[in-house]
Amino acid sequence: MNSIKSNLVVTYSIISVAIIVLLAFFLNISMNRIFVEYVTKQQADAIENVKQQVMELYQEETEYFDVEGIEIVANAALQKGLIIRIQTLNQKGDWNMNTHKHHESQMMLEHAGSNMQSMYPDFTGGYKEETHDLIIDDSVVGYLTVGYYGPYSLDDNELEMLNMINESLFFIGGIFLVIAVLLGILMSKRITAPISDAVLMAKKIADGEYGVQSEIRGKNAETNSLIMAINEMSSKLQKDEIQKRQLTADVAHELRTPLSNLQGNLEAMLDGIWEPTQERLGSCHEEIVRLTTIVNQMQELYSLENQREELDCGWIDFPELCRGLLVDFSGKLLEKRIQLICCTETGDVVWGDAYRIRQCMINLIANAVQYSKEESEVIIRYTKDEQSAVVQVSDSGIGIPKEELPYLFERFYRVDKSRNKRTGGMGIGLSITKAIVERHGGLIIVESELEKGTTFTMKFPMPKETGMID
Ligand code: ADP
Repeated sequence: MNSIKSNLVVTYSIISVAIIVLLAFFLNISMNRIFVEYVTKQQADAIENVKQQVMELYQEETEYFDVEGIEIVANAALQKGLIIRIQTLNQKGDWNMNTHKHHESQMMLEHAGSNMQSMYPDFTGGYKEETHDLIIDDSVVGYLTVGYYGPYSLDDNELEMLNMINESLFFIGGIFLVIAVLLGILMSKRITAPISDAVLMAKKIADGEYGVQSEIRGKNAETNSLIMAINEMSSKLQKDEIQKRQLTADVAHELRTPLSNLQGNLEAMLDGIWEPTQERLGSCHEEIVRLTTIVNQMQELYSLENQREELDCGWIDFPELCRGLLVDFSGKLLEKRIQLICCTETGDVVWGDAYRIRQCMINLIANAVQYSKEESEVIIRYTKDEQSAVVQVSDSGIGIPKEELPYLFERFYRVDKSRNKRTGGMGIGLSITKAIVERHGGLIIVESELEKGTTFTMKFPMPKETGMID
């Protein structure tokens, strides 16, 4: 399997070669056309020139041409690849370069032919002639016939020039090709470097090295998004891994104490050291209840956090919910002589799963009552705006130290471990509450001051399409 980099370099090089070859081909064609036009024009000019010179050599008194002059003109014309022949009307005698200098004339034609063959191997040319009238004082005095290798031919200088141009084209093409390949390597390196980074990261992640991050150094939106997505995935996996390890450690830690208590008590009773009294069996039962609660809560939290459970959402009559809570907590409230004040009005509603929202309220009120002094107040407030219903549970209890607040919603987190062991809290209630609020698309925050009290604020979003907000 080829790498993207080598594929890109090969593709880029092929495209470059194709472009350069096409360019050279068309350039060559147009160059040749220009050259043919130029050579043909040169030849026509040369013939015209010869004709003028010949006419100037006409002597009216002899009614013939100056033969010496004609010889000079014919020699000069031969140098330019032209073989001239002059015929007069008065039959005073024809002058023919081919008979005068037959060998040179043939040599010139052969040379022109070999020049053309060397440049264009498929060139089909041969000896051509054209005849022009020689006109003196508006009357034809004779004819000039010019023979040459045609349809056109290149002399040595022109051939050399054309060869030089072709060589330069070849050379420039070569240089462009090298530049194109180098650019191809550079470009493919730039494109593939972030992909290689992503592959490397993916391998590390696959090997369990969660949390690895790669620098975003490319300028391509797609590869940058890929790196960002992998970075995000890596951090999320790391977070999940830490959470998983923490959870395993927490569960093991939480279960160890009640299990060893239970084991100790039961072994003592089985060995006959302890009498299986009502009180001792009751204590074992308490531990089992505690264990069952932990396991149930853990399962509940898992379902909520992993969205395993569907929410049964609807409009919840909040004052009615509060009335129910007052009844549920009446015993505890009476015990501590705490007043539960519900600041709600008829028409206050929350959009959500009634069972789950009630569970949140129970958790918060239970904590508020738990950590409040006797004869104090716990207040439930309800406010709403266009986007959400805001529910607050405030107490004037012992409060929570500021440094503990960021960890409060973590599972098994307790502010004062020994204190809570005594009060029976397991530190899962707030994690469940947060998971429920977040499942509703809301958020929960806590504000607290030591010895002054704590306020939990939950924000539940209102569904816009219902239009029930006034
Ligand atoms: P727990 O079952 O221990 O109450 P939670 O998750 O409900 O577990 O609460 C976590 C910890 O937060 C509690 O152990 C307690 O230390 C602290 N906490 C919660 N609510 C209050 C509150 N209203 N006042 C003071 N401390 C609180």
